[in-house]
Amino acid sequence: MAPQEVRWTCARCQVSVGRIDGGSSGLPDTWSSYDGVTYCLSCARARASEEASDSAPDSITREDRVKVRRRALIAFEIGRTPEAPDRTVANACRTSAQAVATVRGELTAAGPARDRAPQGVA
Ligand SMILES: [Zn+2]
Repeated sequence: MAPQEVRWTCARCQVSVGRIDGGSSGLPDTWSSYDGVTYCLSCARARASEEASDSAPDSITREDRVKVRRRALIAFEIGRTPEAPDRTVANACRTSAQAVATVRGELTAAGPARDRAPQGVA
């Protein structure tokens, strides 16, 4: 089901988007919707790194937490644009293409993200 709204509002930063003519439109390509809650791209990225940080053990160092957040952001961006070259993902995450290649390699080793997506309750 492709939801149609006149305007989409980010649940986190309250920015909203819509067509200039006021007609209904689908969710913008860069936006995400989880459980009926909609986020703009920058908030979806921030949530990805915050969730990773929250789920990391309290005992890890500050530097490790930064790495966890950065890795989660890269993984999010790869999942969002799997066809994008490492350099493009790196620019979006303000990191190096090498860092993206490392995370992409780990994700590939773990299996395609799409296959791990929740499929609903069996
Ligand atoms: Zn937002």
